[in-house]
Formats: sequence, structure tokens, C-alpha cells
Amino acid sequence: MKRPRIGLNCDIAAAASGDESLKLGWRYVEGVLRSGGLPIILVPVEEKPLVNELLGALDGLLLTGGRDYDPALYGRVRHPATKLVSDRRMAFDVALARAALAAGVPTLGICGGAQLVNVALGGTLVQDIPSELPDALPHAKQGGGETFHVVEVEGGARLAGIVGAGELEVNSSHHQAMETPGEGLRVVARAPDGVVEAVEGMGGRFVLAVQWHPERMLDRPEQAALFRALVEAAR
Ligand code: MN
Repeated sequence: MKRPRIGLNCDIAAAASGDESLKLGWRYVEGVLRSGGLPIILVPVEEKPLVNELLGALDGLLLTGGRDYDPALYGRVRHPATKLVSDRRMAFDVALARAALAAGVPTLGICGGAQLVNVALGGTLVQDIPSELPDALPHAKQGGGETFHVVEVEGGARLAGIVGAGELEVNSSHHQAMETPGEGLRVVARAPDGVVEAVEGMGGRFVLAVQWHPERMLDRPEQAALFRALVEAAR
């Protein structure tokens, strides 16, 4: 049986010379491979027809994490703590996400990729949890890296069918968060402080966006199951 082709967007690193190279965390790739998918790195092309051609070659899409997306996308002024992805990545990711969601391509968003799913559908973000929600629990480790907290997964949600309903321990390495869900999305998991940790599409198509990093917890069956769910939806 042919493996479903899962596209992954990637980051762009610029050298002092200005030369750009592509960069993608291996664990995202590993999550797709272990789930029976064929991972395909998506080159951040600028022309819209090329974006559509890339998309046409895919069965599913994994939107990966990175820096922040432009708050102008959801009608806000940039917060000083908002650190943007590169212009090239910004333009490509937004075009890719909008096209994929419009075409009903099965899509899993992780961390920044989850925030992208939400804003691509007209949702909003909290730009900086520590300064905008001072009573929130830590969602990132001081000095960088990840911390852990629980989330409450809503019963009856697609997410609950994958990871189980109720309390779930997740890692956390984000300073922004989803706020108002985008059109056709609903909140299906929150941290104990109320911060949105997952949204999903209300229709039959597979659209799931999680704020944590399942690719760093592939040894936990319920987290690996998120990748399998994407690959199965793409089959
Ligand atoms: Mn968190």
C-alpha cells in the first residue's frame, strides 16, 4: 500500500551572508515516518500557483512550529515580545494553510502551526502569555526549553478519540496561544489556567491544532497517535 504523502513546512535560517537554508526538526519527520506516512518537506515558494501545485501533490499537511505570525493577520498591533518568522516563511505558510484548509486537505498544526491554523481561519492569538495573562501558569521554561502541564480534553471531541478525554499531561514551550477560535473551529482542550491548548474542525474533515509538541513525546502512545490520526485521515 502506498504511503500517504504528508507535507511539512519548514523554517528558514539566514546566514550572515544573507544566504538562506531550510531547516526542519527531525522529530516531526520521525513522527510521520513511524505512522506510515511519506514525509515531504515543502519548499517555501512564493508564487500562488506553485503553492497550489505543491498542495496538489499531498494527501495531508503537518504545520510545524517556529516563531510568531504577523498579528496584522488577526487585526492586532505587534506586541514587543512578538518575534516573527521570516518574511518568506510568513508568506508561504499563510498561503499554504489557507489553501489547504479551503481544499479540505487533512491538516495537523503543532504549536506555531496550530496558531497558524487558527489565524488562517480568522481566529485570534494571545501574543504574549506572560505579559497579557500574568496569572497563567508557566507555558515555557525560563531561559528556553519546555515545561509540562496538564490539559483537559473535552469529551466527544475528535481529539478525545485520539488521546482520550479528560486530563492529559503535555509539554509546553510557547509564549503565544490561540484565543478566539477561527471559523469552523472549536476549542477542545484547555490548560487549567484557561489557556487554549487545542482546537479542531467541526466538520467531517480532519483539522486538528495542538499547542504542545507531540513530536517530542513520540514514546507516549497517545502522543504518537496524533501523527497516526493525521496519516490515517490522509489515506
Ligand atoms: Mn501550554
